[in-house]
Amino acid sequence: MSTLRRSTILDFGMELEADEVRQARLGARLRAVVAHAYEHAPRVRRAMDAAGVTPADVRGLEDLQKLPITRKDALPAMQAEEAPFGGLLGVPVERLARVFMSPGPIFDPQGEAEDFWRFRHALAAAGFRRGEIAHNSASYHLTPLGFMLDAAARSHGCVVVPAGVGQTELQIKVAAHLKATAYLGTPSFLHALVSRARELGTPLHFEAAFVVAEMLPESLRAELESEFGIRVLQGYGTADLGCVSYECTEKDGWHMHPECIVEVLDLETGKAAAPGQPGEVVVTLFDEAYPLLRLSTGDISALAPDLPCPCSRTAPKMTGLLGRIGDAVKVKGMFVRGAEIAAVMQRFPEVKRYQAVVTREKHQDQLAYAVELAVPADDEAALAARLASALREAVKIRGDVRLVPPGSIPENAKRVDDRRVWK
Ligand SMILES: [Zn+2]
Repeated sequence: MSTLRRSTILDFGMELEADEVRQARLGARLRAVVAHAYEHAPRVRRAMDAAGVTPADVRGLEDLQKLPITRKDALPAMQAEEAPFGGLLGVPVERLARVFMSPGPIFDPQGEAEDFWRFRHALAAAGFRRGEIAHNSASYHLTPLGFMLDAAARSHGCVVVPAGVGQTELQIKVAAHLKATAYLGTPSFLHALVSRARELGTPLHFEAAFVVAEMLPESLRAELESEFGIRVLQGYGTADLGCVSYECTEKDGWHMHPECIVEVLDLETGKAAAPGQPGEVVVTLFDEAYPLLRLSTGDISALAPDLPCPCSRTAPKMTGLLGRIGDAVKVKGMFVRGAEIAAVMQRFPEVKRYQAVVTREKHQDQLAYAVELAVPADDEAALAARLASALREAVKIRGDVRLVPPGSIPENAKRVDDRRVWK
């Protein structure tokens, strides 16, 4: 623990570039990858032809919206119909490094590039350093996360221990013996490792952790930091896209990755969503091996307000994940989305857990919110009224807010619980 850990490493000039410079750079890369994909990926060519778009129509970022969207949930059918990659691969299969299979099933190609999935920026932000022993508890088996994090850590000159998943006590032995200083994997497994190690009386030496693939509750992060002395930063990515965004040490939103194009699209109009408005995350990649153009992830996020980040990175931020497409229930003829509720609740630090409950009384839909507070409020009625008003504004339907005792709402409760019985 004696070594000074740099709070953040900004060794990539592109993280500091001015907006116009970034937009010009992304625009030029978009132009190049569209031309390549049109030439080499038959499905891209067919989709662009059907949309009446030619590569020459895409000159820069301002033309992005001309390109058709590919839905991630359509990939399994595309790949089944046109094996192995649905006509979206941009190089011959023999030029790939590895192929993975994720749930769906979706086959994920890995191109030849070092750090193909671009997680190195995220690890730099999390303070990973050359020569450090990085214990990687992400799976190396068939799905790509283990290799994704491995490649990024190696690109920083870290020494990676490919621990994979499971066998908690064996992993503790390995990490203790090697004095691993950094952790890669899910936050819940990190917690399991350090808690069990403490029970066993085995000292671990983790100082930095980069976690993905799960929600990271702030209470868990706080415990890992204060109880175990581990700095924990998180990122967001998918098996097909690699890294999409990541936290800096401000821990207040996730910077968009500078080497791909990240859009947040309004759920109704499909146009760019305003800051704070929930929208679907849609990503465009530049690697010629797998030139995914406007892949819609099904994940819902929102753009953070356009304010300079104290870390000096200039890329815009996302506010974290708010839910998945399909997380919607029709109430009084209107869609109520978990993501919209989440966006409001995030603005109230007093709120610890919540659930929207839809019931039906006398053939009328009823919407109510059960809310648990992190700490007791001075004036509960006033807080409930402010919450109800903010929710009404966002959700467009009136719903009562009921403050409930801690522990009333199950930890993994659905955000919108539809209890209506139709008979
Ligand atoms: Zn920042």
